[in-house]
Amino acid sequence: MSRTPNATVVAIVIGLSLLAGGRAPSVALAGPEKREATTDADREGGLRTVRSKSFLITTDLSEEEARELLARLETMLRLVSAYWGRPHRGVIPMYVAKDFTRWPAEQVASMDRAGVQSIRRGGGLTVSETVVSGNAFRSKATVYAVADRGTPQHEAVHAYCTHAFGTCGPVWYAEGMAEVGNYWQEQDDNSVQAPLQVIRFLKRSDPKPLQAIVDSRLQTSGDSWQNYASRWALCHLLGHNPNYALRFKPLGLQLLNPTLRNVGFWQVYGTQAEEIDFEYRLLLQNLEPGYRVDLCRWDWKTKFRSPRGGRPVVSKIAADHGWQASRLCVTADATYEFATEGSWTIASGGVAIDANGSEEGAGKLIGVVFSDGQLSAPFALAAEGTFTAPASGDLFLRCQDGWGHLADNSGTITVRIKASDRPPSRNERRQARPATPRGGPATSEPGA
Ligand SMILES: [Zn+2]
Repeated sequence: MSRTPNATVVAIVIGLSLLAGGRAPSVALAGPEKREATTDADREGGLRTVRSKSFLITTDLSEEEARELLARLETMLRLVSAYWGRPHRGVIPMYVAKDFTRWPAEQVASMDRAGVQSIRRGGGLTVSETVVSGNAFRSKATVYAVADRGTPQHEAVHAYCTHAFGTCGPVWYAEGMAEVGNYWQEQDDNSVQAPLQVIRFLKRSDPKPLQAIVDSRLQTSGDSWQNYASRWALCHLLGHNPNYALRFKPLGLQLLNPTLRNVGFWQVYGTQAEEIDFEYRLLLQNLEPGYRVDLCRWDWKTKFRSPRGGRPVVSKIAADHGWQASRLCVTADATYEFATEGSWTIASGGVAIDANGSEEGAGKLIGVVFSDGQLSAPFALAAEGTFTAPASGDLFLRCQDGWGHLADNSGTITVRIKASDRPPSRNERRQARPATPRGGPATSEPGA
C-alpha cells in the first residue's frame, strides 16, 4: 500500500486465541516430511488457493472443504454487510491451516510472524493496516486462522470491519460482534446458534457484571474464549432484544467511527443498565440452542396492580413468548383464585391443549414473581384453581415449554386472577414452595 506523505498509518492487530471453547488446536503434532514449496498450485496434499468474490484463501484444506468454507464466508459477509449497511469492497486474503506443520517453510517465511504464531497456537489473527488521510482511509486486512469451525469466520468479520470502517471498535464490541457474525445463519434468524460448549459455560458460571464486559481497561483481544462468550451474549442480547436493539446499531456505527470519541456503552445504555443487567442474567440462566431474546424480552412497561374487591385482573398469555405480565401485584403467602379460557399448542401442527398442559406438564400455565430485579422460583398454575404467592411482587406468567422451543408455539390463553377470601390449604402452601427441579438447576420450572 502506497502512503501519501501526510498520511497517518494506523496498524491494528486483532487477536484471538482458541476461539470457541477450548477446541483442540487444529495443528497436528506429528511432523511429516517436508514438502516442496507450493503457493498457488492446486496440488494434491499441498497448498491450494481458492477464491470467491470477496476472499482469496491459501489453505491445505481439500478443494471441497475450501469451497464449503468460501460459501460460509460469503454468506456471513452478506449478513454482516447488510446489518451494518455498508457493502464489502476488495478481496480479503486468508491463510487457513488444517495441518500447519506440513506447510512449506518458504510459504511460512513469507507470512506475517504474529499471524504464524497465532496459527501455531491454534487460534486466529487479523493483521490490518489502515492509512488515514484526512477523513478518508484505506485499509487492508489479512486473516490467519486454523481451519476449525469458527475461527476463519470470526476473523473474517474483523477483516470486513477493517475494510469497511477502518476499525473494529472497542474489544467488547469487536469480539462480541465477530462471534455474532460467526454464529449467524440467516438474515431473519434471531435464535441462539452458539456451540453447546459456549452455552454450557455461560449457564454454569456466574454472570459477569456489565462493567466487567464493556470496560475497555479490562479488555484485551485473545484473552480467553470464556470472555468471548460473555461478549457474544451481551452483543446478541442488545442486537436482537427489541428493548435495546433500536439503539444498538447506531451505537455500533459510532463505535466503528474512529473520529468519534466519548461514545460508548454507558452514554447510550446508562439509563437502562439495570434492565439490561437483569435480562442478561435471564438470558444466561435460560440459554439453549434456539433461544429467542426477542420472544423472551422482559415487559418493563405494563403496570401491575393489587387486587381490588372481587374484580379479577385479566391478562392474555401467548404460548410463544417468555414471561409475560399478568398485571397482578401479589403479596407473599396470600392466596389467589384463577380461571383461564382458551387453548394453545406447543409444537407446530401440535394438538391444542388448555392451561393444564399435557400429563408431563408441558404446556401448563406457570408463574414467577418479580421483585427488585430478582425472580422467585417458578410455580405451577393450571387451567383453574388457586395458588399461594411465594413472594411479594409482580406476577409473570408463561406456557411451560423448553426455552429454545418457544418459536413454534401458537395460541393465547386469557387468565383471570383475583384475591381469594379463604386462607390457603396445606396443599396450596406446599405448592407455593419451589417445585422439584426437572433435571436442571434450581431455576428450572415446575414439573407436572
Ligand atoms: Zn476476534
